[in-house]
Amino acid sequence: MRVDLLEHTPHPERAIATAARICYAPIGAEELFESLEEGEVHRMVRLVVGSGHLSAVEHASFSFAIEGISRVCSHQLVRHRLASYNQQSQRYVKYDKGLPFITPPSIERVPEAKAKFEKLCQDSVDLYQELRELGIEAEDARFIFPHASETKLVMTMNARELLHFFSLRCCDRAQWEIRAMAMRMLKQVQKIAPVLFENAGPYCVRQPCPEGKFYCGKPWKKGNEAPGSGSE
Ligand SMILES: Cc1cc2nc3c(=O)[nH]c(=O)nc-3n(C[C@H](O)[C@H](O)[C@H](O)COP(=O)(O)OP(=O)(O)OC[C@H]3O[C@@H](n4cnc5c(N)ncnc54)[C@H](O)[C@@H]3O)c2cc1C
Repeated sequence: MRVDLLEHTPHPERAIATAARICYAPIGAEELFESLEEGEVHRMVRLVVGSGHLSAVEHASFSFAIEGISRVCSHQLVRHRLASYNQQSQRYVKYDKGLPFITPPSIERVPEAKAKFEKLCQDSVDLYQELRELGIEAEDARFIFPHASETKLVMTMNARELLHFFSLRCCDRAQWEIRAMAMRMLKQVQKIAPVLFENAGPYCVRQPCPEGKFYCGKPWKKGNEAPGSGSE
């Protein structure tokens, strides 16, 4: 899996603090942006995130290049509606020379399961090629590929949606793949905006777990990337 931060708002925390302060400042946004002390920027960011008045947080955006994830993972990802996505097309990209597949660690660990999994993936590539040779368009031949098919995409989220996304997807309940992806995203945005994302992560970083009977029973710790048990 590759998760690279492609682009972001150049000064995300300053942009957020400026947006928050414009509400009650007698001066304009440009002057605010230039004049806010660093300490005041951090205070304002902590204030809006801590109070839940998150509209100002929407002024910072982050774009990621994501590769080497399965279509299982991308399907879960695009359920997050407040984001922008562009994904490699299985209509326009032809897989006549094959297609990579993502193997879950649980299958990787069991040689017999791994052999059967790899056979099915290879059979799907062989059948795809046969269908293509029979004149079937890529858009229909692709129907036989497993969910394990690798995909690539570009995704942009604003910081408000990212905080929400991290709450759900860094949680131990999320499936291992999207969780690993979310953890990589979190680590990268924390380097760019350490105050904004200082308490980002699953809900249990900030408050009691809201998952009720699905509570994993082990408080999440930063850097914990154990496989989850989500139902998706
Ligand atoms: C562990 C886990 C297991 C899951 N299992 C399943 C499953 O079995 N089946 C399944 O179908 N899905 C499942 N999901 C997906 C889940 O139901 C959500 O679709 C997904 O997490 C996106 O979250 P969201 O809807 O809160 O947020 P986003 O789409 O990221 O939106 C962010 C927030 O914006 C607001 N918002 C967005 N759109 C609207 C709207 N139309 N109206 C009002 N408010 C809106 C809401 O406050 C929302 O929380 C699972 C998710 C997780 C984390």
